[in-house]
Amino acid sequence: DMAGQAQDNLAFYDESFDVYNERRLTLMAELDKAISHDGLDLHFQPQLDLKRNRIIGVETLVRWKHPEYGFIPPDEFVTLAERTGIITPLTRWVIRNTLKAHSELTAGGFPLQFSINISAVNLKEPDFAQQVAFMLEEFGVRPQDIMLELTETAMMDNPIRASEELFRLKKIGVLLSIDDFGTGYSSLSYIKKLPIDEIKIDKSLVFDLTSSTDDQVIVKTTLEMAQNLGYRVVAEGVENQEMLDILIDLDCDLIQGYFLARPMPLPALLDWLSERGLQGSLPGADRTARS
Ligand code: C2E
Ligand code: MG
Ligand code: MG
Ligand code: MG
Repeated sequence: DMAGQAQDNLAFYDESFDVYNERRLTLMAELDKAISHDGLDLHFQPQLDLKRNRIIGVETLVRWKHPEYGFIPPDEFVTLAERTGIITPLTRWVIRNTLKAHSELTAGGFPLQFSINISAVNLKEPDFAQQVAFMLEEFGVRPQDIMLELTETAMMDNPIRASEELFRLKKIGVLLSIDDFGTGYSSLSYIKKLPIDEIKIDKSLVFDLTSSTDDQVIVKTTLEMAQNLGYRVVAEGVENQEMLDILIDLDCDLIQGYFLARPMPLPALLDWLSERGLQGSLPGADRTARS
């Protein structure tokens, strides 16, 4: 009965959750508007190829500064967008603006590869790969300049559907990356069945590199396995010289992290690249320049 139900609900009443709920409702209502009125921004974080000592790409990270709540972490509003279906226009907005940024950088003399985070929910759209193909054509961007990042855990919800769409994307020619590898139920045996080009080692594992030897062994083994299977390996969350040194020793292909550069808006990225150039020294080069 009603009274009993109210009683039950009362037992779960939590003031902080209620506040969060109100925030959640507001955000859900306004995200849509933010997308259609360019209320979002993109930041770009450079990726360094350790073998060639060269900047070869950037990862696109979406930003939302809400007029009332301030900066909303992407983890929070992407999750909301996934639950409400807004992820479809959100991802489209991110791809289109990334392709625009790609054209601008190429025109500025920096032909970089762009990595874009996509949601497993996007893979369930009936024509996702086709839409990606249309956008590439519209902006005149070569498919091999675009890497799509996905988390494996998210795909597990519908692995067959996800896998079908990944094969369609592969056919178009875009590159595919498994993000946050090493968290959750990552398994190379599942990934091996997919047309994947790159594995991104999660920052939590990268942080472990400088702690216990046991943790180091896990990262080391993960990296070796991924490379033996032919994947390019990126380490994200590289925050200091010590992490970088270990990753160079482990023969990691690419790094990304605050030690190299923080995510930044396009004009700042252009300045950063102009000052530094693509080819050049590693951070803390005097200590790490070995061949
Ligand atoms: P992710 O794709 O794994 O992105 C890496 C996150 O690590 C980013 O957080 C980045 O700013 C942060 N990061 C980079 N270097 C370092 C470092 O050296 N140390 C530390 N502690 N953090 C570092 P951010 O921008 O808050 O994004 C969080 C997550 O939100 C992303 O994780 C991704 O899953 C999601 N996300 C961001 N942008 C998009 C997007 O456009 N679409 C979708 N679907 N998801 C996105
Ligand atoms: Mg990512
Ligand atoms: Mg990641
Ligand atoms: Mg993540």
